Amino acid sequence: MLSQVVELIESKRRFAITSHLRPDGDGLGSSLGLYWLLRALDKEPEVIMHDPVPHAYQKLPGAQAVRVTDRIDREYDAVFVIECSDITRPGLIDLEKQFVVNIDHHSTSALFGSVNWIDPTASAVGEMIYNLCKAVGVRVTREIAECVYTALITDTGSFHYSNTSERTFKVASELVRAGVKPAKISQAVFSSYPWSKIELLGEVLATVKRDPSGRVAWMRQTIEMQEKAHAAEEDGDGFVNYPLTCDGVEAVAFLKESAPGVYRASLRSKGEINVARIAEKFGGGGHRNAAGCTLTGSWEEAEASVVSLLREAVERRNGERDDDKDAEDVILPADTEKRRPEARQS
Ligand code: 5GP
Ligand code: MN
Repeated sequence: MLSQVVELIESKRRFAITSHLRPDGDGLGSSLGLYWLLRALDKEPEVIMHDPVPHAYQKLPGAQAVRVTDRIDREYDAVFVIECSDITRPGLIDLEKQFVVNIDHHSTSALFGSVNWIDPTASAVGEMIYNLCKAVGVRVTREIAECVYTALITDTGSFHYSNTSERTFKVASELVRAGVKPAKISQAVFSSYPWSKIELLGEVLATVKRDPSGRVAWMRQTIEMQEKAHAAEEDGDGFVNYPLTCDGVEAVAFLKESAPGVYRASLRSKGEINVARIAEKFGGGGHRNAAGCTLTGSWEEAEASVVSLLREAVERRNGERDDDKDAEDVILPADTEKRRPEARQS
């Protein structure tokens, strides 16, 4: 919990900070935000990652200081593990031998740390790093603010997703007060893509399919498409959101072939439909409306397995909605009969 993290920071000196493989905006923004927080306290932090900093985040303050390594090869008093569901997600050999501090906002996170600070009400770990600044009495500098703001906009889809709360806006407002220029950060993160991404998007969108109800959509990215577009696998990040922008579509699966017969699946949904539960069935996890997992087999098998579960979840949810309406009917007083909706088909 937070008080243990504060105590540890106050009593120790040399810290490593890491996040998951292929770090995203929250993983990197929160790691670098914590780096600047520790620097402000005259500590000796180092950010270490298994994978290099993606292009979109290279302009973040401190990004150039991130050290790429696949093992814990230096002495630290403690290692902060940011946004990881389990101890293998950072991809660092010998991590389990360290004093690990697990900081996450996923409710599915395992309590693998010696200290575990998990806050599922936080929109991003970035929001927690902001709270940590307040708890240890560090002024939110422009460096910290830019890193934390990047975490917020990437994990909330620029304040579009349901994890966006009043507190998220309050924190964002404080960050702007501390020197963040929202347009500058949005441009670096969302408008600096390589052209290969657009070429790949064309290929991927051509594969999109919907089930007969129109509520579930899915699409694929093959290695062949990547090669044709001269793109990297991660150029497909974010594509999963396109089908979800259409009215009526409630759940989407996007499968990216990472090796022959191996697919990284991104699952997205609207409203109550919980895709984290589905990702967990395949050993993955995430949030109610955004989750991921790895699938294997032929394209047809992999797509069929995840799409059938999405269809079930969507049908079940729509069934529950109808039950809710029936329940409403029961409690309506007799004289409100004329306000009843027209007879429903199901
Ligand atoms: P994405 O589709 O963008 O890769 O991931 C969406 C969400 O699902 C993120 O919050 C991410 O942390 C989570 N996620 C993605 N892949 C995995 C996985 O293999 N295991 C777990 N536990 N979570 C994942
Ligand atoms: Mn996050």
